[in-house]
Amino acid sequence: MVDKLKKIWVDGEMVNWDDATVHVLTHSLHYGVAAFEGIRAYKRAGSASGVGAGTHIFRLKEHIQRLADSCKMTLLTPRFTKEQIETACVELLRANGMEEGYLRPLVYLGDGAMGVYAPNNPVRTTVIAWKWGAYLGDEALAKGIRCKISSFARHHINISLAKGKITGQYTNSVLAKREAKLAGYDEAIMLDAQGYVSEGSGENLFIVKKGVLMTPDLSSSILEGITRDTVLTLARELNIPVQETRITRDQLWLADEAFFTGTAAELTPIREVDNRAIGDGVVGPITKRLQARFFDVVRGADTTHADWLTKV
Ligand code: PMP
Repeated sequence: MVDKLKKIWVDGEMVNWDDATVHVLTHSLHYGVAAFEGIRAYKRAGSASGVGAGTHIFRLKEHIQRLADSCKMTLLTPRFTKEQIETACVELLRANGMEEGYLRPLVYLGDGAMGVYAPNNPVRTTVIAWKWGAYLGDEALAKGIRCKISSFARHHINISLAKGKITGQYTNSVLAKREAKLAGYDEAIMLDAQGYVSEGSGENLFIVKKGVLMTPDLSSSILEGITRDTVLTLARELNIPVQETRITRDQLWLADEAFFTGTAAELTPIREVDNRAIGDGVVGPITKRLQARFFDVVRGADTTHADWLTKV
């Protein structure tokens, strides 16, 4: 359950939590065309001299750019600029007195016409914030999780928009996640329509083989994850060889290490896939190094990526 906070930003106004409701004729509720984002704010330790300390939103600009991209792809024209939505994110955390939290901007088609086309329905924008700890649990971050290749394939690139974070597309994620959980696993891994490894229900996937870090390339059916980009950047800075490439199911089973990345999932190690241990079934050394670097950058003392941080 999400804990109730004070305010939700709705079309330019700070509205009381209980008053942020929608009409049942809301077009997006019926047909699933709405763009959204998931963003984290961390209370950072900052450097010894205090630089970079306090609450910062991680990679806010990149997330709001992806929101704009999702809107562009679905022909949604928000009434607010990217800068206004960024400001709303900052002000919402302040209005709720939050030092850490998760932000959920959402652009959706409101009520009016009920046909699929509905070109004149109002485009609504909202930003919600809530407290969210480790998405897959603290133990998952420390020890890794057990995954199952889903019986659901990831959307084909000519069926939906893999590069968009669009609400209706998440039926695929919800079905895959439920299937995995009901079968006793922590998370699903989906293959694409050609049978190559794609991503999790809400995470990008990486493997390590013989010291090389590998992840599916952007021409595949994956979301262009911002955490994925963060980890690729940090790996290159650590001189870890990186390949963006196709990965097969058996390459995944035979990997030395594997992990998920995502704003919610952060950097979660994978210790088992389809009842096969990944490597020795424990968190591997490259995963550990990257996870430590990641947490140092988002909430620790690292100040080398100041351009990724927006002060609240
Ligand atoms: N893939 C999917 C399907 C997702 O929903 C997410 C979460 N936004 C990701 C990957 C990871 O993206 P990011 O690192 O930008 O949160």
